[in-house]
Amino acid sequence: MRATGLFGGTFDPVHVGHIELARHALEYCRLAEVVFIPAASPPHKSRKHLTAFHHRVAMLTLATEGESRFSVCEVEKDLPPPTYTVDTLNHLLQKNTCATEYYFIIGIDAFLDIHTWKEYEKVIGQVHFIVAARPGYTVSDLQECIASLHYQKKVDHWYNASSKRKIYYLELELADVSSTDIRKTAGSSTLPKDAIAPAVFKYIKDHNLYSSGR
Ligand code: ATP
Repeated sequence: MRATGLFGGTFDPVHVGHIELARHALEYCRLAEVVFIPAASPPHKSRKHLTAFHHRVAMLTLATEGESRFSVCEVEKDLPPPTYTVDTLNHLLQKNTCATEYYFIIGIDAFLDIHTWKEYEKVIGQVHFIVAARPGYTVSDLQECIASLHYQKKVDHWYNASSKRKIYYLELELADVSSTDIRKTAGSSTLPKDAIAPAVFKYIKDHNLYSSGR
């Protein structure tokens, strides 16, 4: 069965932490591909401060073009706002004839909020999760959350017997970088070059993005 990673996020902008995470997820779960899904109108982030969708797609395209197993999916562009993960997944998976297994890639910070997602039980019944470590969060935070979702510990993952879905934890030291930090730095001084791909750096400069430092 084909294994596809789905990596949702605002990617405002995409940075090296995102790309490292996608690469590790590819290898760790032997995914055939990772599809980046920029959020058009995420319910948990203020619309006012979001960079235009086409800019975020363009930056993602530049950051992923060196890896043939990466692609960018604009499915949320045509969905009514706000764009909830459950609706995006419904849209993407409706044509799946069970020939593909989907793995949702996510940082631990975002996963710990899963109880607040619209129809989160449906989401966790549809996809496996690959959860990545992030500074400031511990595996015990994750264990507590996973137990409340009725998953059992197995050797290298947690398993939910009724949905037959798994959760993997990538306990890696990924780049300690966030899009928030990049946006702030861009406004106050110079962009942190090593936190973003050179082509993305150039795109930000050329289009004068983040100059207000929000
Ligand atoms: P912001 O600072 O604007 O909240 P972000 O850097 O967290 O943005 P998002 O686009 O919101 O980036 O992230 C998409 C997904 O990638 C989320 O699940 C987030 O947890 C994860 N992620 C982002 N950066 C990292 C990182 N450095 N290490 C691990 N996971 C990350």
